[in-house]
Amino acid sequence: MATMRTPIESGVPDNKQFLHPLMKKNYGNWKYHDRPRPGVLHHVAHSGDEIWTVRAGTQRQMDLFTIRKLCDIADQHADGHVRFTIRSNIEYMVSDESRVAPLIEALTSNGFPVGGTGNSVSAIAHTQGWLHCDIPGTDASGAVKALMDDLHAEFIKEEMPNRVHLSTSCCEINCGGQADIAIIIQHTKPPKINHDLVANMCERPTVVARCPVAAIRPAMVNGKPSLEIDESKCMCCGACYPPCPPMQINDPEHSKLAIWVGGKNSNARGKPTFMKMVASGLPNNPPRWPEVSAMVKKILYTYKEDARSWERVSDWIERIGWPAFFEKCDLPFTKYLIDDWRGSRSSLNASTHIRF
Ligand code: SF4
Ligand code: SF4
Repeated sequence: MATMRTPIESGVPDNKQFLHPLMKKNYGNWKYHDRPRPGVLHHVAHSGDEIWTVRAGTQRQMDLFTIRKLCDIADQHADGHVRFTIRSNIEYMVSDESRVAPLIEALTSNGFPVGGTGNSVSAIAHTQGWLHCDIPGTDASGAVKALMDDLHAEFIKEEMPNRVHLSTSCCEINCGGQADIAIIIQHTKPPKINHDLVANMCERPTVVARCPVAAIRPAMVNGKPSLEIDESKCMCCGACYPPCPPMQINDPEHSKLAIWVGGKNSNARGKPTFMKMVASGLPNNPPRWPEVSAMVKKILYTYKEDARSWERVSDWIERIGWPAFFEKCDLPFTKYLIDDWRGSRSSLNASTHIRF
């Protein structure tokens, strides 16, 4: 008799099937953990079982050969047990301390730095960029590569006041998230509309509804249905470009990069915080983005020097205050930075209702 097909849209698969056997056995029953050296975590269970986790940095977007190399190292040194962290580090688990040193040697000799634990600068989380997405204004992974080349020493050591999470986002509106220091694309001119294509490519009501400040209206241009933008309202967010590619907003000159600081997702020692913009108008300058790297390093090393132990970037700024932050980091302050205007909640589209 035919059996009914069970639905598969039932959430993520049970992760326990992929866990290291010792982790599965001691799930939820750990006594303590410590870090014998940067890049190595050591967990001890109430049962007496011990497990060592070795963390290495990867470039996130990997070719097949690199993935095979990482898997070969897992097969040879860790019985095939790996997992990835949210910042694209790879972790290998072993249940015997004597396997840790050969594993580290295999990773470092193949060019994968071991670190990213504790008070280090972990690998930079970046959005997909030109490789996978259709709307980026910059190559997020390229800016990360350039910056991480400079910050490699901070990845393999744990010398920051607290952990530092960095990120880059290649548009202003979609993926990204909160980070201690973030590099985010910043459009500075309204989209340029190709009126010949709008009627064929765009669902106009959807595009109108996307605009958070209701700056887009339907219009007839040259006898064709199109759209028009009230440029005095447009805040150059780029939200209209994904559903309507003829509303081109990416521009080699006017799409810039901005630096945001003080975000965090964790609620350890303080609530999660939102980032605030502290520098804007930096050139989108591939392939090495030197101006951006210099600015991030300036903020990062000022934090390293000035923050107290265990202060995240947001805690440090909270203690010294924004004026001192700008002064210490040699950043010019303008009225466009650190927007904390609470009135925006009723004037920006923050719900599914459209307001005009
Ligand atoms: S941040 Fe924006 S442009 Fe970049 S991958 Fe995400 S959606 Fe695409
Ligand atoms: S860029 Fe943003 S603010 Fe400007 S028209 Fe498009 S959606 Fe509206």
